Amino acid sequence: MHPQGHRVQRYTPELLQPWVDSARRLGLKDIAFTDHDRYHAGIDFHEIDRLRERNPDLQIRAGIELDNDPVHSPAGRKWIEKNWDKLDFVLGSVHFLERADQMFDSVPDGAAQLEGRNIDAMYSEYFRRLRELIATGLVDCLAHLDLIKIHGHRPTADIRTLVNKTLEFIRARNLAIELSTAGWRKPVNELYPSDSIIELAMERGIPFTTASDAHSHVQLGENFVNLAHKMAELGVRQVCIFKKHKRAEVPLQL
Ligand SMILES: [Zn+2]
Ligand SMILES: [Zn+2]
Repeated sequence: MHPQGHRVQRYTPELLQPWVDSARRLGLKDIAFTDHDRYHAGIDFHEIDRLRERNPDLQIRAGIELDNDPVHSPAGRKWIEKNWDKLDFVLGSVHFLERADQMFDSVPDGAAQLEGRNIDAMYSEYFRRLRELIATGLVDCLAHLDLIKIHGHRPTADIRTLVNKTLEFIRARNLAIELSTAGWRKPVNELYPSDSIIELAMERGIPFTTASDAHSHVQLGENFVNLAHKMAELGVRQVCIFKKHKRAEVPLQL
């Protein structure tokens, strides 16, 4: 959940409570705030504690999404190191390729970064950057693992050859992968990651979290019914939750 959206907004009861109310309405019992690291100035752990006190029926996790922003992430990494013990959960993601001033997943403008390019090479480069991020040792779980497909560009190479090394690294580091419904509201109109990547991850015993990557409390839990069907179909029988970076697996009743 991204309560700040895409600008610094101080954590206050007014900002955070609607997210808890939305979660309660949807029957979600365990939720995590994961604002982008470039907005870390808005995060207030004391406000999260107060929110927990007011809403004891829900588990509220303090998290952040660290990406590879060449301008802001060095400060984000330092902030995460400093606040590691207060955080339950760190998501890792890649939003930047060659341009430092534009996320490639901006819709629709970011698509120009892939137009006329060797898409297999772009996929390889995307996953290389993801491994670089994992190597920081500061993430618990990967967000939208195959975000590179967002505008609908498909590789010609077998996805296995493109993603295997990264999945092996994820397994070796004992990290989780997020199943994110956000892909269903983007041009690609597909879950992140794709079914074949989920299957490859399952073969390796990599666990999953669920996410809607909501940037508004109205978006929370978007397409979770479709996600439940997909998980049942693929045989995903448990999801994981995080407390102080420690993972617990919860069986699903689908
Ligand atoms: Zn965002
Ligand atoms: Zn992201």
